[in-house]
Amino acid sequence: MPKRAWHECAYPGCHRLTKDRYCEIHVAKQDARRESSYRRGYTSRWAKTRRAFLMEHPVCECPECQASGQPLPADVVDHIIPHRGDPVLFWDRNNWQAMNHVCHNKKTAREDGGFGNKKR
Ligand SMILES: [Zn+2]
Ligand SMILES: [Zn+2]
Repeated sequence: MPKRAWHECAYPGCHRLTKDRYCEIHVAKQDARRESSYRRGYTSRWAKTRRAFLMEHPVCECPECQASGQPLPADVVDHIIPHRGDPVLFWDRNNWQAMNHVCHNKKTAREDGGFGNKKR
């Protein structure tokens, strides 16, 4: 059984001794970096999907715009049911609606401010 020797952490400038590639501090940092590049991938995929969705849904689908007959141009994709980080709700097309950011801000303000009001 070859024993792994203690050596310095592979992180530039770190001299903590470790038996792995990185000391425990920098192992965590490497994980954080992986996580953020994962998020970047997620975000660019969403940016593309969103753009395609808005091409198909060029006008705001909020109730006010529907009622006015003169909907504002859509520039955001809203999640009808707030996804709160749930990837299933996040990527479910049936849970998307095109909205204008002004209408969207109003809706978000209602949702944030109206905690406990059972509108739906
Ligand atoms: Zn280190
Ligand atoms: Zn609207």
